[in-house]
Amino acid sequence: SPPASCGFRQSSVRVAVRVRPSGNAHESAAVSVSGRTVTLTGGPLTHHYGKPGEGKDDAQVFAYDHAFGPSADQLSVFAACGAPLVKEILEGFNATIFAYGQTGSGKTHTMLGTALEPGLVPRSAYFLFERLQAMRARDASKVRADEAATPRAAKSSDDEGDEEEDAGGGEGGGEEAADVIDLISRGNGQRATAATKMNAASSRSHAVFTLVLEQQVPVDEDEAGEAGEALAADADEDADTAATDEGIVPTEESEAGATLSSGGSSATASRRRARRSMRTLRSKLNLVDLAGSERAKLSGADEDKKMMSECVAINKSLAALGNVIAALSGGRATHVPYRESKLTQLLEESLGGNAQTVMINAVSPHSSHYAETLSTLQWAKRAQ
Ligand code: ADP
Ligand code: MG
Repeated sequence: SPPASCGFRQSSVRVAVRVRPSGNAHESAAVSVSGRTVTLTGGPLTHHYGKPGEGKDDAQVFAYDHAFGPSADQLSVFAACGAPLVKEILEGFNATIFAYGQTGSGKTHTMLGTALEPGLVPRSAYFLFERLQAMRARDASKVRADEAATPRAAKSSDDEGDEEEDAGGGEGGGEEAADVIDLISRGNGQRATAATKMNAASSRSHAVFTLVLEQQVPVDEDEAGEAGEALAADADEDADTAATDEGIVPTEESEAGATLSSGGSSATASRRRARRSMRTLRSKLNLVDLAGSERAKLSGADEDKKMMSECVAINKSLAALGNVIAALSGGRATHVPYRESKLTQLLEESLGGNAQTVMINAVSPHSSHYAETLSTLQWAKRAQ
């Protein structure tokens, strides 16, 4: 079989919708899920969108690749949307998961979750390290956690010589995963603090978390079946280049912005494969908690020029993302407009090509959010 990195494959975009549980028993429900179908009914604004008297209750029905109702747990979302993409990066392909939706719809719950209900980022990290640990146990290679799991530190660990240091410190993949989780909680803590300070800044910024995997694979294509025997997980420094002017969260150095650190614990395989030339196969999984998709008019931002320009930038980057995803999912061989925004430029190598993409669209179940929910469901439909 051809080496993973060279095998030609179509990119694919899969689209999921997740309806969060109701936080308020008194509010009437507008969204129901059955199988992969999402039905939107009976909102106060229905008459603005549907034609009264036509159809049953003016219900609008949408079908997606996956639909998760209010009782769907974090594990089932991970099993359907996260695990397959972790397997992609283990095979050397890039992948991206987005959470899209209005503020309060459950994006951050889906991506980060809580200590008791961890979301896609910690689950993906654990799953990746679990798989690496299993591989390491098999071939006795060593993977070591870097002391300071920051993009900068991880970068410096790429320096020659460092890789050859004693690798016995880490007892197992769990330690490396724990470092990633620690990094996430710190990043999330900063994010929460910043959000409070800046009046829910997180709804106005995209947070990009990236897991980077580097594997030493034989140059000889015939040996490619052994790819993955020597593995190194490394933190990513790419997110450092994230552009603040579109509300993409810069990692580590931001004081004012809501911050979610990117990266993972740095670890390097020390295994040597004698007399065989090796090359590094690098793949990454981006997990993106997008800024709230609600319109600028709803944010009360009109009076504040800075906030207004942020909203315009967010809307511009979300629109650009929508255009890229629509071009990719259309399967057309036409131009994919990556250059339209910094967000799509940043993610270019993980969107399209061989990369697999999952878009999770979060919606509120309440009729009071009917308009935004409809907008999200339509946006999701366009991505499919
Ligand atoms: P967003 O990031 O889209 O603004 P959040 O993820 O912060 O929204 O969700 C808003 C609130 O709803 C939070 O209190 C969150 O814990 C809760 N929530 C969202 N989705 C779920 C879910 N599937 N299960 C339980 N609570 C949820
Ligand atoms: Mg959020």
